[in-house]
Amino acid sequence: MPTRREFLATCALAGVAVGAAGRAAAGAADAREAEEQPEPDAASRAGRPLVVSTWNFGVAANAAAWRVLEGGGAALDAVEAGARVPESDPANHSVGLGGYPDRDGHVTLDACIMDDRGRAGSVCFLEGIEHPVSVARLVMERTPHVMLAGAGALRFAREQGFPERDLLTEDARRAWLEWRREAKYEPRANAERHDTLGILARDRDGRLAGACTTSGLAFKLHGRVGDSPIVGAALFVDGRVGAATATGHGEFVMRTLGGFLVVELMRQGCSPQEACEEAIARIAGDLGSDPGEVQVGYLAIDAAGRIGAHAVRPGFQYAWRDGEREVLVDAPAFFGD
Ligand code: ASP
Repeated sequence: MPTRREFLATCALAGVAVGAAGRAAAGAADAREAEEQPEPDAASRAGRPLVVSTWNFGVAANAAAWRVLEGGGAALDAVEAGARVPESDPANHSVGLGGYPDRDGHVTLDACIMDDRGRAGSVCFLEGIEHPVSVARLVMERTPHVMLAGAGALRFAREQGFPERDLLTEDARRAWLEWRREAKYEPRANAERHDTLGILARDRDGRLAGACTTSGLAFKLHGRVGDSPIVGAALFVDGRVGAATATGHGEFVMRTLGGFLVVELMRQGCSPQEACEEAIARIAGDLGSDPGEVQVGYLAIDAAGRIGAHAVRPGFQYAWRDGEREVLVDAPAFFGD
């Protein structure tokens, strides 16, 4: 067992390599897309709000969250507002309305939310409600529980006045029928057919919060629940340390409790970047020389406003915003470009 001192030294050493990898990735990204910029140092953000989100659709989520943060609003309200954006977007096939269904044609949603006081709420296997993140928030605020599932979550949502609607859009139905023809009804984790919104924010008062929302892996087995509603898997927040979120193949995140791991590593002295790299290494290190189609991406912020991100494979993007700057970044990856 390494001593605490040795462990911190490992993080510090890793930081040298991580910094170099991060810079290389940022340089490559700059060459590809002019709007991408390297992350400013945390000092320039001290006392300023910050929001980060997974994937390119995180840009729109961040914009909604920013409207809350710039008015002095709470991080918790900001992440909920951000998560509701892709939930309502029928063109987004991995979150909320328009999400791809499971193999039986049901759109089933997973979401969770967590604040700086360690409070958490979540729903899983929820059908017919456009905004699972808001139901999750009410589970947190109005029940003594953390998670509600399936029919029970739907009943709770109804009782709380959430409208019901059919979330299977014509586009998504067509894609499902197409998949059924090609795949012969065999669910298969596929790197192209998933993407969760994970969003983390720090408000003007330094409070942290996070949320996560998804329709999960496309064409999954009916009843499958992923990492997104599991506190400690795709989302974890510790108000004194930082916050982390995950996207990608949820089974890998669930088996390693990645969100908790990233925050715990930060608590023990790792920077957000070092923590994400270590959490990805625990997954990618077991995949041999070829990750196949497996993808997992972690995104983290610490209480000082530093950002970290890492993925198994290239392709994971995240967006951050701390004012007028809205930046989309290609995360560095374990298996490189
Ligand atoms: N993590 C999600 C899940 O496994 C999917 C994703 O993020 O792409 O349900």
